[in-house]
Amino acid sequence: MKVFKFGGASVKDAAGVRNVAEVLKHFALGDLLIVVSAMGKTTNALELLAWDLADGRDAMERVGPLWEQHRVVLEEVAPGDGHSLHELQAQFERLRTLLRNGSSGSVDRDYDQVVSLGEVWSTLIVNAHLRHVGFASEWFDARQVVRTDGRHRSANVDWPACEALARVHLRPLADRPPVRLVTQGFIGCTADGLTTTLGREGSDFSAAIFAYLLDAESVTIWKDVPGMFNADPKRFLDTRLLSHISYREAIELSYFGASVIHPRTLQPLQRKQIPLFVRSFSDLSAPGSTIDDRSESDSLIPSFILKPAQLLISITPRDLSFIVEENLSDIFARFAQRNVRIDLMQNSAVAFSVAVDDSPRSRRLIEELRADYEVRYNEGCELLTVRHYDDATLERLTSGREVLLEQRSRATARFILK
Ligand code: ASP
Ligand code: MG
Repeated sequence: MKVFKFGGASVKDAAGVRNVAEVLKHFALGDLLIVVSAMGKTTNALELLAWDLADGRDAMERVGPLWEQHRVVLEEVAPGDGHSLHELQAQFERLRTLLRNGSSGSVDRDYDQVVSLGEVWSTLIVNAHLRHVGFASEWFDARQVVRTDGRHRSANVDWPACEALARVHLRPLADRPPVRLVTQGFIGCTADGLTTTLGREGSDFSAAIFAYLLDAESVTIWKDVPGMFNADPKRFLDTRLLSHISYREAIELSYFGASVIHPRTLQPLQRKQIPLFVRSFSDLSAPGSTIDDRSESDSLIPSFILKPAQLLISITPRDLSFIVEENLSDIFARFAQRNVRIDLMQNSAVAFSVAVDDSPRSRRLIEELRADYEVRYNEGCELLTVRHYDDATLERLTSGREVLLEQRSRATARFILK
């Protein structure tokens, strides 16, 4: 069994959906599970609906354009498939019902009920098309096996429960070859049957979850770029393809902000030694990147990642007491409670400095910390991470910039730049 994942960009219109079938014709010889994201920018559009719902605004007129867009694509890629059209209609009716019922009082829970529908719609359409061109695929509801806790909008996977559910609902399908299953990325379900989501861009992680549960032989993420690069080709010239790197290296790169793969994707694959391929859906002959356990190519090319819009916060106890375990654990607890991720940290005797994304959450946290600490911050910073650095690369990337903070380990150099 192989797992293929198609992101929103790859299914953004009828041509994209048809291209999924092309990819399958070339590469899907055996059993296959296909994980699909919401079409194009649907998730963003659904987020707006979720905010309207939370604020008690009438959002019903926003549904029409979404319906039109999905209906038109379905009718183009699966003409005459009344059954799928009916099913799509029913899943749009769910959205209208949610909006009609109004807020449940929990913004995050409502968000998940609304935003998850994007993946339900896109998979209905992709599945309808695959059947239309003769693939005999089946639509599979990811919520039957992706069991999570109730932390809405960034749910944690309950692995033992997933394994038990997969034995009942998924393995029997997978044991019945040849099989082509089409399922949703990004979404899961609590034990109480409430839909959850795994965090934005979480479909890669879903692909890894399914691969893990099925002991898949590989995962392929089909993207609008031809693989993983040593830097974002949209921001830097002379970028180079990382044709082969280890899980460990890919985890480091995605953790530091390389946006090609969702950071949680690699751990489940590494645990079962399932290789990950990142390939271009528009250039099927391009070899792409391979990520597996072999690390011999990791250090051949310096990789660099720039995270924009960072706040560099410096926290000092009001009585100038030393930064020690007690106040550190208090500070960390507040970051955890507010769900603010620390991207970099450093301490001196009396000051603790952190870099975080500039967000309303971070700003609120600063105000809270000010009750007990002296807090100063620099806004508009960038966090530059360079893996396998050399002097020439560091010089090129930092020259002419003000360096507010610098940290180096053997493999990684990091800078807060203004
Ligand atoms: N549709 C979701 C998002 O846009 C999940 C994904 O695409 O991976 O964040
Ligand atoms: Mg995506």
